[in-house]
Amino acid sequence: MNQLLQCRNIYKKFSNTSILQNLSFHLEEGEHFTVVGPSGCGKSTLLRCLAGLESLDEGDIYLREKSIVRLRPENRSVVLMFQDSLLFPHLTVLENVTYGLKRKKVSKTERVRQAERMLKKVKLFKWKDAFPHELSGGQKQRVSLARALVLKPDLLLLDEPFSSLDATLRESLRGEVKDLLREEGITSLFITHDRDEAIEMGDRLAVMFEGRFIQIGHPYDVVTNPSSMESAKIIGEGLALEEGFIPISKLKAIPVQDKPSIQDFTFVSGKVSAITVKNNIECYRISWELGSVLAMSDNRLVVGQEVLLSAKREEMKKYSTQKDQWGLAQ
Ligand code: ADP
Repeated sequence: MNQLLQCRNIYKKFSNTSILQNLSFHLEEGEHFTVVGPSGCGKSTLLRCLAGLESLDEGDIYLREKSIVRLRPENRSVVLMFQDSLLFPHLTVLENVTYGLKRKKVSKTERVRQAERMLKKVKLFKWKDAFPHELSGGQKQRVSLARALVLKPDLLLLDEPFSSLDATLRESLRGEVKDLLREEGITSLFITHDRDEAIEMGDRLAVMFEGRFIQIGHPYDVVTNPSSMESAKIIGEGLALEEGFIPISKLKAIPVQDKPSIQDFTFVSGKVSAITVKNNIECYRISWELGSVLAMSDNRLVVGQEVLLSAKREEMKKYSTQKDQWGLAQ
């Protein structure tokens, strides 16, 4: 595979505060890369730097092996899709989608042809003459996706595009968007603070913490084998302890009175805060001193019940101590 994007040792400060710190990574052509991290860790700043809306303090960004850091946003083949659809209220759906092509001096017939094709792809063709206020939130985001894709960017940046939508709509749109990006052959970088979204949308996933990528890998590997406690807290599906990580599949919630006497069990005290179903299995959300975690149980538990989180000690994965997991140069 060819590398489409390379970010090399990026630094960005606002006033005297470092936001991006020595960030290096690459994207393969056609790849879907997600970045997950807590609010304020620098995700949007990274996208804004890639789109050219913010300048870098240090470092370089290469798109198809050419540095783009000095190019104006409109001269980069990079499109940024925001949380809000930001459609022009006085233009119809079709006009909103053709707008960018007009600025690129594409002929009117061709603009309309390309925009109509894209509106069919996002299942909004019959709404082409409607105005944005006549559309639902999900439809507006679909128009905004059509408007971005019709420009055939080398790289599409998505800044939490589903965050204003309800949970069911978010889930259905995720699949649709990923299929569409694949069909159109567009490379994407998707940022979110929602771990499920990050896992589902990414071929590779980066965990961001305080302006750095602290882990990059296949979503399954990152979720089941976080390389540090920070990574485990942000994305790990299981119990993040200082000594290591216990994946959810190895974790059991047991009533306090059932505490087994076997030495090689690890225990954390907690309380059932909710009952849920995951993959058809009843699960319990257990609140403990440092947060909450999902766990299964051999018993029927009730909300408010005191429990112990247990796992065999050998199931605990120790965090990697390799320094090169931090600020990864890929
Ligand atoms: P995220 O997208 O991960 O929530 P952001 O990239 O939006 O985080 O913000 C990272 C930090 O940079 C935050 O502390 C935010 O307040 C700060 N920040 C973002 N944009 C600006 C700006 N234009 N001026 C000053 N500080 C900013």
